[in-house]
Amino acid sequence: MELIRDLPEVFEEFAEQRKNSFLGVKKLKEQGVPIVGAYCTYFPQEIAMAMGAATVGLCSTSDETIPDAERDLPKNLCPLIKSSYGFAKTEKCPFFYFSDVVVGETTCDGKKKMYEYMSRFKDVFIMELPNTQRPEALQLWKGEIIRFKEYLEEKFDVTITEEDIREAIRVNNAGRRSLKQLYEVMLNDPVPITGHDLFKVLYGSTFKFDRKAIPEEVDALVEKIKKEYAEGKMLEKKPRILITGCPVGGATEKVIDAVENNGGVVVTFENCSGAKSIDKLVDEEEPDVYEALARRYLNIGCSVMTPNPNRLELLGRLIDEYKVDGVVEMTLQACHTYNVESFDIRRFVNEEKGIPYINVETDYSQADIGQLNTRIAAFIEML
Ligand code: SF4
Ligand code: SF4
Repeated sequence: MELIRDLPEVFEEFAEQRKNSFLGVKKLKEQGVPIVGAYCTYFPQEIAMAMGAATVGLCSTSDETIPDAERDLPKNLCPLIKSSYGFAKTEKCPFFYFSDVVVGETTCDGKKKMYEYMSRFKDVFIMELPNTQRPEALQLWKGEIIRFKEYLEEKFDVTITEEDIREAIRVNNAGRRSLKQLYEVMLNDPVPITGHDLFKVLYGSTFKFDRKAIPEEVDALVEKIKKEYAEGKMLEKKPRILITGCPVGGATEKVIDAVENNGGVVVTFENCSGAKSIDKLVDEEEPDVYEALARRYLNIGCSVMTPNPNRLELLGRLIDEYKVDGVVEMTLQACHTYNVESFDIRRFVNEEKGIPYINVETDYSQADIGQLNTRIAAFIEML
């Protein structure tokens, strides 16, 4: 990417990346590249990348197919699960349609039961994710990663070597390092860009099939942001907000807008759309690649873990480093683990970090935008 292009143009290109990759996935399929779809941050992408497969995130983010899903699934289920199932069942998601195999982890109850139905019309490989991070759990998860590798070898008639996996680890780590440098531009106060523009790049980059190209592209963007900042291009000073909770994307970007249209700026995302999936690297020095992958992925602080100390560790660190004034937690309706955990997150943010916290529970409709604006505007005013 040359440095002369305007930042808004680059942000829009990332925002369009998901849609643009619809054509890309078809092309890859025609070239005979295996496609592995996944729904979760716990998915060890490097194993699939090591055999030359393209990996793609399938979590759906619009309410378009929820009525179709509700014919099979209960209405009071998390919209992310209903939407994902609906897009799969109606074949409206090209990523799902072209996936040779879909990988699901046993994270929350709704998702794992949904995979049972999905496996009736798609090749679904379920990985048994332990819901705890004890040492025995690490061995179980490592075994699952090896089982996944063996499954791919058999299904695609290939051999996946440790060197291939090591190379995939290097590629993904390089991408994570660059994306981390990007979100670290928000350490500045005032910030150089909006949280929504940052989000477009973080989210869009997950739909780039050419993982090796990410560092160069993102580094050039960071360089440009820093150069313009040095020249005085920045936003005015505003209350600094951290977003945590369920994954944000598509319909739920309304929460970012509710912050940024009402006087705040999102300086960091703790959830799966941000630091949760980027913060930790896979240890490149660990001689056992499976151990290295198992450790890195099992340590993700999602609310499906019990106990879940790593979420508080990351949250606390981000609050301090990014000088956060207030925390907005977005939980999806009927997401029990995040909704239950919000009690502890509120306590941690209020009492241990001494800053205000608000929880907004929402779904994929746009019906509550007025209410979101009112609540978040009042919250920001108070900061
Ligand atoms: S929130 Fe948890 S279950 Fe959902 S994608 Fe992230 S890690 Fe996976
Ligand atoms: S948002 Fe919550 S209920 Fe929905 S899939 Fe993720 S963990 Fe499960």
